[in-house]
Amino acid sequence: MTSMQKSYDSFHKNNYTDKSIFMKCPCHSGKNYDLCCGPYHKNQKLPETALHLMRSRYSAYALDLADYIIKSTHPNSPLFEKNRSDWIASIHEFSRTTQFQGLRIEFSDETHVTFYAILNTLGKDTSFREKSLFEKSGDLWCYVSPITSGRTKR
Ligand SMILES: [Zn+2]
Repeated sequence: MTSMQKSYDSFHKNNYTDKSIFMKCPCHSGKNYDLCCGPYHKNQKLPETALHLMRSRYSAYALDLADYIIKSTHPNSPLFEKNRSDWIASIHEFSRTTQFQGLRIEFSDETHVTFYAILNTLGKDTSFREKSLFEKSGDLWCYVSPITSGRTKR
């Protein structure tokens, strides 16, 4: 089996549509989804840095991939929900009602990312800026918590 065939097959196993093969990544990198966050979402690769992980969480919210959001939330995070089905429902609700219009990375180092997410929820501007803390859990970079967050202007 060629590697291309293999990735095509695993793609379909994950129930992605044919269109998403050529889709631009929802993290607004300008790259093709399969060359950006796709391999992280499909467990083909681990994010190399906190920044890669952050971008892949943004695109996971945009694609309503609740399992990925949960998997990449640090088990010691104050935001880690014990009730998994409630958590999945709230991620689904957020993803379903929100348009993920833009992502601007303002700062990043090994364990921090400051970003500005341009969002619209049911017709309302819900954009926000956040400085986030990331830590590894085993081999996987994970989101821990916001350090500062707010609805500051662009
Ligand atoms: Zn991406």
